[in-house]
Amino acid sequence: MTVHEILKLRTRALTPAPPARDRPYVLCWLMQALRARENPALDVAILLGNAEGIPVVVVHALENRYPYASHRLHRFILEASLDLEAGLKERDIRFVRWVRRSGESEVDVVARLAEDAAAVIVDDVPTFVTREYADALAKRFSGAVWGVDACCGVPMRAFPEDLGTTKKYRAAHQPLRDLHLTTDLEQTPRYPMYDGPLDPGGSGAAELTADGIDALIGECGVDMSVPTAGFSGGRSAALERLDYAVREVLPRYKWTRNNPALTDDSSHLSPWLHFGVLSPREVAAAVREAEEAGRVHPAARYKFFDELLTWREYFHHRCRFNPDYSRWAGLPEAARATLLAHAGDSRPRVYGLEALIRGETDDETWNAAQKAFALDGWMNNNLRMYWVKQLIKWRPDPREAFAVACYLNDRFSLDGRDASTYGNLRWGFGEDKRGYRELPVYGWVSGRGDAALRRREGVPEWLAEQAARPVPDIAVPTDLDDLLLRYG
Ligand SMILES: Cc1cc2nc3c(=O)[nH]c(=O)nc-3n(C[C@H](O)[C@H](O)[C@H](O)COP(=O)(O)OP(=O)(O)OC[C@H]3O[C@@H](n4cnc5c(N)ncnc54)[C@H](O)[C@@H]3O)c2cc1C
Repeated sequence: MTVHEILKLRTRALTPAPPARDRPYVLCWLMQALRARENPALDVAILLGNAEGIPVVVVHALENRYPYASHRLHRFILEASLDLEAGLKERDIRFVRWVRRSGESEVDVVARLAEDAAAVIVDDVPTFVTREYADALAKRFSGAVWGVDACCGVPMRAFPEDLGTTKKYRAAHQPLRDLHLTTDLEQTPRYPMYDGPLDPGGSGAAELTADGIDALIGECGVDMSVPTAGFSGGRSAALERLDYAVREVLPRYKWTRNNPALTDDSSHLSPWLHFGVLSPREVAAAVREAEEAGRVHPAARYKFFDELLTWREYFHHRCRFNPDYSRWAGLPEAARATLLAHAGDSRPRVYGLEALIRGETDDETWNAAQKAFALDGWMNNNLRMYWVKQLIKWRPDPREAFAVACYLNDRFSLDGRDASTYGNLRWGFGEDKRGYRELPVYGWVSGRGDAALRRREGVPEWLAEQAARPVPDIAVPTDLDDLLLRYG
């Protein structure tokens, strides 16, 4: 396949219109692929601009009303946005940022900038508001809107049918990796930077410096009760962590990844992968290079790639075919039926949202886990598996338990709101294998204890320490109605 064919495979038309003639730029709207390089959405925009003889303008718009907009998420996104701006400047590509303090939605702003564009190219993500917003623009804009897959290493459209199981997906995915992970897709802009007027309008055009981020967020009306977490959203921080993870974490990854007590249990790259600050292609390239240099064992690379490439991309794949992927209604019928059949079983403990948000249950392991979400914005995978299973027994109704799991993950985890979020929560609620026996409350969905986790080196002490951490005053929703509306 040629580079053009690969980029075409990554692209789908969201409107039937062809690109318009005699417009001054191609508009590239980056919602969740916040990087200036190794970005197929940008590459497609440049390719089109070069063909039309015009430059590309990149817009990053951040409104304050997406679900769970908070100090934590806004800060990460704006840090990423600053490095995106710097990276585009190096490439002579015009950038415009808009941060809503009041007034319009992100889609309104993009629609206005689109009036002068030959086409709008947007990164194509199959879930959460990214999908909703791209569809909303396509509904109201009469020109060309193309969605480009910038989030998977092997394009989602390489698999036209739902493959249904990871086994089938892995078998189909593996032979395509060499081509899609190693072909250089980068396009070079041929036309001078657009220097005409650009008015995103409204109250949101934002000049930004690193020092001004918190002050700007303070004016945005987002949830300031969710504290910032120990990750910087910038590309430089992401590349630094990637380099460190490949050198220090990957060689031991197979043995450490299930021990949350270790500082470098796993790569900790998921927040940057979620917000597209890093692409899976460049993560895979760094790992392969280390393997070729003899610094990473093939077995470690295999395990890591199975998470990064098989599981992560499988969930994106499944999500594409199931519009209800993040809803109770979209869970497999058998899982819903068995959980509902046990909805009337007695539950020794039921916890309200406040105790759950704050990690104040009578289960130390769970409290430690929830505090990782509430305070750090990230949790170890093995701990997440335990965390999700307990929620099933702590709400009176399994629909509510599912909504609460999605809510806690989406609101607090930096990597939440992702296809991998819902894929894994669905696993917790019985998507995969049927349990070995029918249990109270869980029915045929398997439960999970913490005995194996607690046998790992240093884990009991670590859990006690983590569970004792104080949590600041985090706002608590008054009822579950909104959650059930979103995830029911
Ligand atoms: C209940 C539950 C909820 C989860 N919620 C999320 C979520 O909101 N967002 C998210 O990205 N992942 C989620 N995961 C998957 C996994 O826990 C995280 O991706 C992983 O812990 C991130 O840490 P890391 O970057 O150090 O991963 P590493 O182990 O270093 O793996 C590298 C990358 O591979 C991918 N990956 C790893 N494990 C998985 C997995 N099980 N499924 C899909 N992709 C994986 C991630 O992109 C990760 O960054 C969840 C898992 C469970 C059990």
